Amino acid sequence: MIRVLDEAWGVLPTGLREWDSVDGSPVYSSLDLQNKYVEAISNQKILSPVIKAIKAHVTNGRIIPCFANKNMMGLLFHKMFANSIDKATMGYYHPGNNKVYIIMDNRTKYLVWMSNQKLSTVTIHEMMHYAAKNYKRMFFNQFKDILGAFYSDFFSTLSGHAISPSTGSKAALYLLENFEWKQATTQSIFNYAHHLDEIVSIEIPDKDEREKFIISLISPAKIFMNDPNVFIRSLQRDDEIVNYVRGLYTSYKRLGIKSPDTTPIQEILFPSEVVAITSERPTRKHYVAVNTVR
Ligand SMILES: [Zn+2]
Repeated sequence: MIRVLDEAWGVLPTGLREWDSVDGSPVYSSLDLQNKYVEAISNQKILSPVIKAIKAHVTNGRIIPCFANKNMMGLLFHKMFANSIDKATMGYYHPGNNKVYIIMDNRTKYLVWMSNQKLSTVTIHEMMHYAAKNYKRMFFNQFKDILGAFYSDFFSTLSGHAISPSTGSKAALYLLENFEWKQATTQSIFNYAHHLDEIVSIEIPDKDEREKFIISLISPAKIFMNDPNVFIRSLQRDDEIVNYVRGLYTSYKRLGIKSPDTTPIQEILFPSEVVAITSERPTRKHYVAVNTVR
């Protein structure tokens, strides 16, 4: 594999070896690569308040800059918590390994970083997924306002009823507890539907309308979870799905994010994505999350 990598990239970081394994697939790294990564992000303004913590995470192996083979890149593009900024640098938080992988593929010219700023954006984005899993209740408290605003806005758009930020944050907490802090099961989504039915019962008093709202909220998420490709295809021909995603974009706009780098959908079940997307324009809270979690 190393020989193949050498041919593909020409100049490679020295000492590249199998460093770790992601769901059975090896990723390749070296101390040289890790130093280069740290060097590349060191002077980036977006990371300056957290650069010490980021460096410590690289040293202790929580953040792994690495190369992966093509097959794995392809697989990861369709995974939860995989985020591609420019298709050459990609971040992936693996909840099972509890690590962040910063993956460079063969379009990245080594030593000629496409953009250190983008590399930094990917890093802080993935650190938000890491913080959500490790900082749990404190993470929720820290970002309760952002999450409440996002979900209340999206639920209001979808239902045509005014849904409060407090209902939005209740939904977010439920999702964190049942989809992020533990492994979700096939039953989880039905339980979530029941929970929604309870928490919106005052704002949407009519039972049929409530049911309609919940189905319209959950069906696209189910399509996405079953097969992301089907979901992506339906973005081209299913008006309901198009409107749905448009509604998510609108909710981001209200949070001050003009256009997320990835098509919004996983946030329907995974609130840490909302926080990760807003970390493109980090606030003190995002920095506190990175600096606090170990
Ligand atoms: Zn993400």
